Amino acid sequence: MMGTVADNIRRILSTLPQGVELCAVSKFHPVEALMEAYDAGQRIFGESRVQELTAKMPQMPADVRWHFIGHLQTNKVRPLIGRVAMIESIDSQRLLDTVDAESLRAGAVTRVLMQLHVAAEDTKFGFTPDELIDYFRNRSFERLKATHICGVMGMATNTDDTERIVSDFRTIADTFRAIRTDIAPDLRGFEIVSMGMSHDYRAAVDCGSTLVRIGTDIFGERQY
Ligand SMILES: *Cc1c(COP(=O)(O)O)cnc(C)c1O
Repeated sequence: MMGTVADNIRRILSTLPQGVELCAVSKFHPVEALMEAYDAGQRIFGESRVQELTAKMPQMPADVRWHFIGHLQTNKVRPLIGRVAMIESIDSQRLLDTVDAESLRAGAVTRVLMQLHVAAEDTKFGFTPDELIDYFRNRSFERLKATHICGVMGMATNTDDTERIVSDFRTIADTFRAIRTDIAPDLRGFEIVSMGMSHDYRAAVDCGSTLVRIGTDIFGERQY
């Protein structure tokens, strides 16, 4: 049986090494559950739908750091700008350009992660490692005026095959390291590797994750 939300958070935090942060993925869970997490000290919350996020935001304390983690359409960017701590799911250059334009317009700076696609499912969004490396090699990021690229985000294949999961996480971490040390070493504050969910975060941490995104292990099963 699962413990309380507070117990679950404490248990997870006790297993995370120093320097690895926890994003509590609260999509589809009610504000009362988020408040239990908040009262246990949790401050980073992940949501995947703009409407749900903007509805919960005014009901939660102001020091919550909201991370947007879902697929984002360019016409839904505006309500997030100046309000979220991070958009983790930049999956196209067009989306990135829109975030930058909207941030500039709002006089805000938006922190983002570039989403890598390494999993076997073809429905997943994101840049392939080669596309992302090209993006940095072309130095396209120098055009950004109001967006700070802070790292990468990715998901492993949804499988029980531990070797495949580890190989996906290694690909994400290797791509991050190549960009950071070889391709764009001058890119300031490029330091976050967001990977690992309820069923695979231990493997992700072993492979170099600095930010795990955990929903079910904290809040229980989602009611869709
Ligand atoms: C829902 C979601 C999670 C959390 O998944 P759990 O299996 O509930 O821990 C993490 N990352 C992303 C991008 C998600 O959409």
